[in-house]
Amino acid sequence: MNLTKHFTLAELTASSKARSLGLDNTPPPELVPRLVRTAEMLERIRATLGVPVIVTSGYRSQAVNRAVGGVATSDHTQGHAADFVAPGFGTPEQIARSLAPLVDLLGIGQLIYEHIGGKAWVHVSTRTPEKPANRVITITAKGAALGIQP
Ligand SMILES: [Zn+2]
Repeated sequence: MNLTKHFTLAELTASSKARSLGLDNTPPPELVPRLVRTAEMLERIRATLGVPVIVTSGYRSQAVNRAVGGVATSDHTQGHAADFVAPGFGTPEQIARSLAPLVDLLGIGQLIYEHIGGKAWVHVSTRTPEKPANRVITITAKGAALGIQP
């Protein structure tokens, strides 16, 4: 099922963790409209970057979210968020730096540059955090910092 031109429901619900643990990661039907909004945000990001965007994690059921060590209130469990890379554009840090000034324009509620244990990706959510300062942050093994940090 296509959510938008370039993004499918399968892409936004794929989880290697769910597969390896035999967990069902099918979203409840009421979350599908949210996943469409998330895919629409990814389309705007794709158009801006000018290269394909590879979703590494989208929707996560609570069980899958727990298995990957996500926080219980994660926007992934609500269908608001997606993690992605876009190697055709550059590193996740380069992507995050390029998107940070455009969050309003692109309708990105929250932009997080995450780099933990040698892995890096960009997290985007359609949901805007309560504190405006938390809209663009970096998360590393040491914790969270404001803005995009190396
Ligand atoms: Zn994420």
